[in-house]
Amino acid sequence: MHAFLHVRLVVASLVVSGALAPVAAQPAPPTAPGTAGGAAAVLTTSPIIDGHNDLPWEMRQRARYDFDRIDIAAPQPQLMTDLPRLRQGHVGGQFWSVYVPAELQGDAAVSATLEQIDAVHEMVRRYPDRFVLARTADDVERAMATGKIASMMGVEGGHSIDSSIATLRMLHRLGAGYMTLTHSRNVPWADSTSDDPKLGGISAFGEEVVREMNRLGMLVDLSHTSPETMADAIRVSRAPVIFSHSNARAVCDVPRNVPDAILRQVAGNGGIVMVTFVPGFVSQDAANYSRRAQAQSQLLQSQFGADKAGLDAALKAWRTTNPEPRATLAQVADHIDHIRKVAGIDHIGLGGDFDGITSVVQGLEHVGTYPALIAELGRRGYSSDDLAKISGRNILRVMRGAEATAATLRSTAPSLKTIEDVDHVTRRGQPLPPVR
Ligand SMILES: [Zn+2]
Repeated sequence: MHAFLHVRLVVASLVVSGALAPVAAQPAPPTAPGTAGGAAAVLTTSPIIDGHNDLPWEMRQRARYDFDRIDIAAPQPQLMTDLPRLRQGHVGGQFWSVYVPAELQGDAAVSATLEQIDAVHEMVRRYPDRFVLARTADDVERAMATGKIASMMGVEGGHSIDSSIATLRMLHRLGAGYMTLTHSRNVPWADSTSDDPKLGGISAFGEEVVREMNRLGMLVDLSHTSPETMADAIRVSRAPVIFSHSNARAVCDVPRNVPDAILRQVAGNGGIVMVTFVPGFVSQDAANYSRRAQAQSQLLQSQFGADKAGLDAALKAWRTTNPEPRATLAQVADHIDHIRKVAGIDHIGLGGDFDGITSVVQGLEHVGTYPALIAELGRRGYSSDDLAKISGRNILRVMRGAEATAATLRSTAPSLKTIEDVDHVTRRGQPLPPVR
């Protein structure tokens, strides 16, 4: 990678300096935006920095984290991520999700998160020529300059800290660069977008969590949160926020996507929406289909009861007569167009959610496919500069913004507040017993 990059830069500088023979006779280099060559040229200087990849959870489920059993140095078609395809995709930075299911609570959530973090450290140790741990934007740029993939981590859901700010600090110390405030369920201090609203946003303790993340320089991730949580967090945060894997609600109306009013606030905050390739968040038809499929599955479950084989056969028959509509790469580009229109080109990134999805967007099936999206945007008139912002420069700016905020808060002491003190509830959100 390093040698390849070097050769490219030399060739590019020869072309620029006109050292290559007669001007008029030269055909235009095949690097115009919109061509494969154009995408490769952008991504060679500004590699993809992706906001969300669930490889650690896949490795847990499929191989108990054993990279001998699934060696990602070799092609692994049962996964969406492996080293050959990361190279093909020009990936230079990755926030590895250290997701654990929201069904896990308390210590079980914390220890499973630690196991996920351990797996990322092990992956970096195991493939030292391809991965290096990164904390800061400078770390990322240093890694990319040597042709390695800057490896960061994102905690996906506040359940991973069990309502404990000290636990948040320790996850950050172990390498977590962002935390999504909630996953699919509310946490005692913040509402999720896929649960019944309880707080109408974030609680006073939730605000304290956001302030501590600002102090640490940890990015506040608002994917999965309710619009009220988004607005509260943007109001409280002194640093740019991120959406590590979310799309535009005006293009695909599902609760997981970002409403226009919030997109405008993200612009004011200096943050970023990292567009995701989850079919049900990309295409309205796919979203409607998954709602229908879920309803059908519930109906059939009630009909078949304990008859598992009968249920499976009926579900299969339903899916055969009701095939899933395919979400397309062009529709992903439509989300990017919309976010550019509402928030601006400086507030767009990519967060594919590869290996966290059960179906894929046509044309964006794995981590090797990012260049096809960059080429599509080039065809739509995005300049090389625009494309470089989307591929990685915007998230680097956001990281630097969070680092600058943390620098101004360096003399502030760590928060020792507890949810019991601030919100008068237990760590699970139950009312405290009356004091006698
Ligand atoms: Zn997610």
